Amino acid sequence: MSEVRKVLVAGGGVGGLTCATALARSGVAVTLIERRPAFDIPGVGLGQPANALRVYDALGLLDEVLATGFVYDRMHIFDPHRELIAEHVFLLGDDRIPAVCALSRRELHTILLRAAQKAGVTVRLGLSVTDILDEPDGVTVTLSDGRSERFDLLVGFDGIRSETRQHLVGTAFVPRPSGFGAWRVQVPRPDYVRGMEFLQGVGSKTGAMPLNDELMYVFHIRPEAPEAWFEKSDTPALLRERLAQYGSYVAEVSAGLTEASDIVYSAIEPMLLPWPWFRGRVVIGGDAAHAFPPHLTQGAAMAAEDAFVLAREVVRDDIPVEGRLMRYSKNRYARCAFVYAFARQWLEDEQAIRTPAQLEAARAEMTLNASARIAASDRILNSPVVDERIS
Ligand SMILES: Cc1cc2nc3c(=O)[nH]c(=O)nc-3n(C[C@H](O)[C@H](O)[C@H](O)COP(=O)(O)OP(=O)(O)OC[C@H]3O[C@@H](n4cnc5c(N)ncnc54)[C@H](O)[C@@H]3O)c2cc1C
Repeated sequence: MSEVRKVLVAGGGVGGLTCATALARSGVAVTLIERRPAFDIPGVGLGQPANALRVYDALGLLDEVLATGFVYDRMHIFDPHRELIAEHVFLLGDDRIPAVCALSRRELHTILLRAAQKAGVTVRLGLSVTDILDEPDGVTVTLSDGRSERFDLLVGFDGIRSETRQHLVGTAFVPRPSGFGAWRVQVPRPDYVRGMEFLQGVGSKTGAMPLNDELMYVFHIRPEAPEAWFEKSDTPALLRERLAQYGSYVAEVSAGLTEASDIVYSAIEPMLLPWPWFRGRVVIGGDAAHAFPPHLTQGAAMAAEDAFVLAREVVRDDIPVEGRLMRYSKNRYARCAFVYAFARQWLEDEQAIRTPAQLEAARAEMTLNASARIAASDRILNSPVVDERIS
């Protein structure tokens, strides 16, 4: 049976670093390449639900993650003036694992990079793949520095614009603008914001996620032109205009926006690649295979789960490599398709609220059903994926 001893991971985000660490801990020689010349991750936050925390726990990193972030167990849905519509206590986690820990993306990245290096992963920056020669028992990869090397497997966690995905399926499956975009800005956290919250408005939604004792980020989701791009110096005025209907801390944040505010805008471009997520000796995971609207805070979480499951399957040498990659793809697709469908419908539903009367109807519906709806998702996402430690 063919063994996988030497792997190239393309992409140094949550998925790539997690996969590289898990493989290296299992005795595989791993090189990770990252296209950026430095790990200068933009400083917005990430909610990491219990299913992501279980992956970090399996890698022995849970305590570090929890010490860095802000743990919470519930979310609230409010109207634009922060009048309560619904409270939901998450059915995520267990005695050991909290429901959610949110933290700065940069800090999570630092923890994962340190773990990868400690596990013996060779990390090379400023490099990407320029050519892939896929043969029955290995893959020869040419990198952007002109050098070629042969590996048993090429693993692409190279994000939403994945070139590895393009090698698998060409340009047939690409993320396309949904017509909605997400604005984010990191600000001081008022003491009363102690969990994730949504403020449902007319024609848009706003909210906040705590990141630590001092900071939170405020997000705003609304229709935006598909190719929208904003000059940084214009963003404070544009975001202020967009937040005009919101009260409470949102109004204060809005009034305080300046050019020095770290405002980030991203288009929401959902995509779900049907399985299998491999061809020959080339396999993908994370945003390369699926990109969700951010509503369930599951994008990086699913990347971490993909990474863990892939590493676990690849080193099981009971069946040929193709069978192992098929098992990985099949295992991951259903769960990611669930997140995709749930988050996408939530986005469409909330953005369809376009008049005060529709907001009133939505208020009644959410009061009755929002918590039960999210509870159903919690039960699915809390089901175990990680069943062993790799630390
Ligand atoms: C508004 C918004 C809010 C979000 N909130 C959350 C949240 O709260 N919780 C959550 O879990 N997720 C959230 N997400 C999703 C999350 O950011 C992504 O799903 C996650 O970062 C995907 O991880 P990844 O490792 O697959 O890809 P990425 O993080 O995109 O990493 C890919 C890496 O590959 C590198 N790369 C690209 N091409 C190449 C190449 N050819 N060769 C080498 N390297 C390459 C890139 O530079 C990058 O470093 C949010 C997303 C958005 C847009």
